[in-house]
Amino acid sequence: MKKLIIANWKMNPTRGIDARKLFKSVNTVASKLKNVETVICPPLVYLESLGELVTNRACVLGSQDAFWEHAGPFTGQVSADMIFGTKARYVIVGHSELRALGETDTMINKKIKSILQFPLIPVVCVGEVSRDEDHQFVKLVKNQIKLALANLTNEEVSRVVIAYEPIWAISSTKNAKHCTPADCREMVQVIKATLADSVNPEIAKQIPILYGGSVNSESVESYLEEGLVDGGLVGHASLDAKEFIKILKIAEKL
Ligand code: PEP
Repeated sequence: MKKLIIANWKMNPTRGIDARKLFKSVNTVASKLKNVETVICPPLVYLESLGELVTNRACVLGSQDAFWEHAGPFTGQVSADMIFGTKARYVIVGHSELRALGETDTMINKKIKSILQFPLIPVVCVGEVSRDEDHQFVKLVKNQIKLALANLTNEEVSRVVIAYEPIWAISSTKNAKHCTPADCREMVQVIKATLADSVNPEIAKQIPILYGGSVNSESVESYLEEGLVDGGLVGHASLDAKEFIKILKIAEKL
């Protein structure tokens, strides 16, 4: 399986010209990689214009969200249908920054269902705010997965990617802590077991699991090797072309 490295640019950069520059720099290298699939998730307003710069399937685009209705009176929302109309092929859903603004597990489930009506891949983010000694955080993550995938068919679940993002390790979290590869591996095992419980175990085995939370060129190898993930979701470090390319090259060699 190819490594999957997804860049979440969040609300950056502020100008389209800089978005095109950043995409072009990354694409020059990423489009030539054999063992890595790179996905760039820019702000929605740049999707159409960056779509013109996509050269091959090794480096594609994704959206940071999608609303569950196709069209209609939903001010400010963009549907999965519209996103599919651009060159985007992935959609991040359930990111902790949207959950913090009030997005619920039910809303996330509706979004995933609508995304799966198109040849789009939902990247479902799960993760705890903090870890407690009683391991309640494990229950919370299991529950997030079960609710996100509720009432999906085996075939639908087989097209999903899970991104484990402990909020306490995300670079923008105040006093963020380092998530060790062992911390990551422990949750990967929980996620795999939860998936095996929710769908056909053979299908569950094929679902890629990513890690996100302050991934950079120094840490990426440890998560991919010891953390047992199939790829990474990269926020801050994806805004620096040189640093992000370093991450991609490290993943390519593993
Ligand atoms: C994120 O919030 O999706 C993320 C991975 O951020 P960062 O890499 O900046 O911690």
